[in-house]
Amino acid sequence: MKPAIYTEQAACQDCYKCVRECPVKAIEVKDGHAVVVQDLCLYCGHCVTVCPVGAKRMREDLPRAKLLLARRESCHISIAPSWVSEFACSPGQMAAALLALGFRSAGETSIGAEVVSSAIRRSFSSSLSLSTACPAVTELVEKYYPRLASHLSPWKSPMLAHALMLKQRYGDKAGIVFAGPCIAKKQEGDKHEECVDVVLTFDELRRWFDDAGIDLRSIEPASFDGMASRGGSLYPVDGGMIASIKEKAQIIDATMISLSGTESIMRSLDDLGEQASGRPLFLEFLACKGGCINGPATDKKRSLVSKRLRVIETAARRSEEGEAASSLAPVGDEKLSKRWQADRGVDRRHFSSEEIESALIRLGKERKEDRLNCGGCGYHTCADFAAAWIEGKAEKAMCVASMRRIAQKKMNAIIKAIPLGVVIVDDEMNVVECNRKFLEFFSDFPPEEIDEVIIDNMVGRPAARFLPETEGIRRIQGGERELVEKRLEYRGRIMKVLIFIIERDRFTGVLFEDVTSLTKRRDTVIKNAEAVIAKNLATVQQIAGLLGESAAETEIILSSLIDVFKSSGGGGEGR
Ligand code: SF4
Ligand code: SF4
Ligand code: SF4
Repeated sequence: MKPAIYTEQAACQDCYKCVRECPVKAIEVKDGHAVVVQDLCLYCGHCVTVCPVGAKRMREDLPRAKLLLARRESCHISIAPSWVSEFACSPGQMAAALLALGFRSAGETSIGAEVVSSAIRRSFSSSLSLSTACPAVTELVEKYYPRLASHLSPWKSPMLAHALMLKQRYGDKAGIVFAGPCIAKKQEGDKHEECVDVVLTFDELRRWFDDAGIDLRSIEPASFDGMASRGGSLYPVDGGMIASIKEKAQIIDATMISLSGTESIMRSLDDLGEQASGRPLFLEFLACKGGCINGPATDKKRSLVSKRLRVIETAARRSEEGEAASSLAPVGDEKLSKRWQADRGVDRRHFSSEEIESALIRLGKERKEDRLNCGGCGYHTCADFAAAWIEGKAEKAMCVASMRRIAQKKMNAIIKAIPLGVVIVDDEMNVVECNRKFLEFFSDFPPEEIDEVIIDNMVGRPAARFLPETEGIRRIQGGERELVEKRLEYRGRIMKVLIFIIERDRFTGVLFEDVTSLTKRRDTVIKNAEAVIAKNLATVQQIAGLLGESAAETEIILSSLIDVFKSSGGGGEGR
């Protein structure tokens, strides 16, 4: 099975936005493509959200869900409570739509959330507790903060809790599908196949409704298998878990803080040891800013405020209407408990300043001014890029500034070495670049005096100061054509001129080839051939009497030979 997140390499445009945005730099560039390093990834799905061309993808699981439904006698679906901010329908209509797909029962995952909240209340730690409803945060702590893994709450997530309740009620052979806004849950489901068979995103569920021709707005309402209380329904928003824990018991002597967004969470975890006080501290962490309502598989067109409002209003209504009883019994602590893995820690290599310096030099960044820290490579600083390069996660070509410098150097070397006169002009007809040969052709400097300083000093000067006419350049700049060839006679030289667009409305290049000797040689040959024809024509005409039409043919052949010679190579008139 494919991992939950992968790169469609053919679609990747090497923009490195995913590298820049990945909070743990779990993306390496190999052969020009940005691929996810599964051992480092949190499955937060942020790279999928930010990739501008859809090359970062989440695994498609809809066919597996359909197959499960076709093969298993009894299938049940758990839908994340954030559905209220994604689908415009009532709970009864959503329940009816899920049942219409063929599920035996449909319930909200918030029922599992209530069981988790209740377990946390019973086991409240006297020191530090880190919440675990978000699998991306669990991955973050286990992989990047293994020293804190023992503080992760010892209970499974609401998705797994609800799945276990369904298995307990309908038997181990029952098929369980979860639908939500999250990619990390796909990965969590893969690790807990004994609980959940298939994890779908809301996008996949939406497509399933479309395939089945189900219209959410017009379907006759049915009932979910039980309804969670206000607290359970608030889990998808930042602070919702704490509200749920506090709903049924006041934990007075504890500090409870909620925080969302992976980078903010990492900053808090970095200095957590220093902040620890004697008071119990419960931290509710959600990887997506604002919570699951902003998960990677949610509608990004709607504002977080309106999504949050939908969740809060739904929770308030449930509080007034009261909970509908569920046929599911809570699972015991033994099944609900989870052991945290402190041995998954990622070996984050640290490099000495000497190692970084040496890498920067090898990357062509000897000088301070070459270290732009522009972020174009996907890393915040040139030093971070150098560290990633030593680790084998980055490639030299990722540094746009270096690549541009190398390209410039190559172009300069070519312009210098080419045996043609070269000038590049801007839209105001000022010189941007020229070479020695150009100045030899058009300036008054004695050739032996032309050096690098003189050539550099030409930049910014009007091209008209050197060129006898600039009309051809103006015409190509204002017209449609990309290339024009002409002939120019100047100071005793015959030149073949090639004018071409480098960047329309900005830069135009002109090449001058001295074809004087070639042209003169050709003219001499033509003149000699014409003399031979004239001299021998009389004789040929006499013989023509004897040979009939062949004289005329001879003249035609000789004349056409001259025409061919005139029009081939050696610099004819401009085409
Ligand atoms: S964001 Fe990443 S995967 Fe997407 S095109 Fe850019 S480099 Fe490729
Ligand atoms: S899913 Fe998250 S952690 Fe993994 S590569 Fe993408 S942005 Fe990075
Ligand atoms: S915040 Fe919610 S949607 Fe986002 S990664 Fe965590 S569980 Fe998934």
